[in-house]
Amino acid sequence: MPALSETWDRASVLRSEYRGTLRNKFMPAKFLRSPIPYSRSRPSVGQGCTAGPPRVHDFRPGCRLASTRSFPICSRAEGDQLKLSPEQKSEINKARRLTALTRRPTVPALEAVLLKPFPVLDHGFVRVVDYMGDDAAIVQAARVTYGRGTKRISDDRGLIRYLMRHRHTTPFEMAEIKLHVKLPIFVARQWIRHRTANVNEISARYSILDDEFYIPAAGVLAEQSKSSRQGRGDALPSREATKVLQLLRRESTRSYDNYLTLLGVRKGKRTRQGIARELARISLTLNTYTQWYWKIDLNNLFKFLELRADAHAQYEIQAYANAIAKLVKLWTPLAHEAFTDYRQYSVQLSRQAATAISKMLRGEHVSQTDSGLSAKEWEDLLTSFGMSSDTKNSRA
Ligand SMILES: Cc1cc2nc3c(=O)[nH]c(=O)nc-3n(C[C@H](O)[C@H](O)[C@H](O)COP(=O)(O)OP(=O)(O)OC[C@H]3O[C@@H](n4cnc5c(N)ncnc54)[C@H](O)[C@@H]3O)c2cc1C
Repeated sequence: MPALSETWDRASVLRSEYRGTLRNKFMPAKFLRSPIPYSRSRPSVGQGCTAGPPRVHDFRPGCRLASTRSFPICSRAEGDQLKLSPEQKSEINKARRLTALTRRPTVPALEAVLLKPFPVLDHGFVRVVDYMGDDAAIVQAARVTYGRGTKRISDDRGLIRYLMRHRHTTPFEMAEIKLHVKLPIFVARQWIRHRTANVNEISARYSILDDEFYIPAAGVLAEQSKSSRQGRGDALPSREATKVLQLLRRESTRSYDNYLTLLGVRKGKRTRQGIARELARISLTLNTYTQWYWKIDLNNLFKFLELRADAHAQYEIQAYANAIAKLVKLWTPLAHEAFTDYRQYSVQLSRQAATAISKMLRGEHVSQTDSGLSAKEWEDLLTSFGMSSDTKNSRA
């Protein structure tokens, strides 16, 4: 077996440090340019890549990743363009040009979008900073093999589906992903409840936050739902929506101006000492954007997606979850497929609901009252199977 040094001679591991220049005009340079460890870029050198769109099993050792094409991960419904400073764009482009040889498995489809920010909401984004493992790593762990674990794709697919179906979850923990996310603070509050991730957030004690606030698109403004305590009901009439948007913009801007005043900043210049950043930030609104690095294993990421990519989740966190789900599909297509089939779009039945469905299948009459289900559960059951309330009175 050749020594590692022979194989890795040309680009053992390209390491660099880039200085994370936050788009922040007021911060002293020594605070702005705190070094952020640069994560290894993935292999992209050599020959043997298959032509056409990258597939997960196309990996060849020493393969050059030619493609940096963009994938339709998310669209910016709110119409704004992703605002990255020239420095930030240059950092990303520089990092995306770096490549390294490795014996570790890589996924060409994810390599193609590595480090690239995908817009979410009006100023947010999600980008993959690093990852470990792929579909084959799940199979490898489940079989505890010496090699890559892969036999045939159809075998891998069958095994991954079996694992997902039977909630044999630990093999999915062998794959991990690290994301850089820019998100409004109120979304971060929901997101952070998913405790099985590693998080490092930008510090507003240390940095001055950007003047970027989430202002919803008029189309997603809605009344409080009448049927659910959490959730949105009917869309707001357009005149009402315009007033709401004006109010949100006015208040966000006013709060940010107060923030700068407390910091002693006027017209982009520090005019006096101001109060501590850790205190000044309390004047900011919850729609102010924050940023974090978020690392999670695939098993717990699926738990996040199950809850947050669900149609009942708050629209704003759903937008992030859907963007992440598209990245997961590029990364581990077989596991993602199994997740959508057995978790995301599956239906869980209580004992009473399963009995009611069995009776219906046998052609027996079932009503809500004798099913043992509450009115809400009954309604949910009928909705899950595409049955209307009328069915309840006739067949069910
Ligand atoms: C519709 C909805 C409404 C919600 N409303 C509220 C609310 O009103 N208030 C509120 O505070 N939160 C609320 N939450 C958050 C919710 O209670 C969970 O904290 C969140 O969904 C994270 O889920 P999780 O614990 O499965 O995820 P993670 O924290 O990522 O945990 C993943 C899994 O790891 C295991 N685990 C993690 N930590 C522990 C532990 N300490 N002990 C044992 N096992 C652990 C569990 O199996 C868990 O399922 C809401 C969530 C949803 C989806």
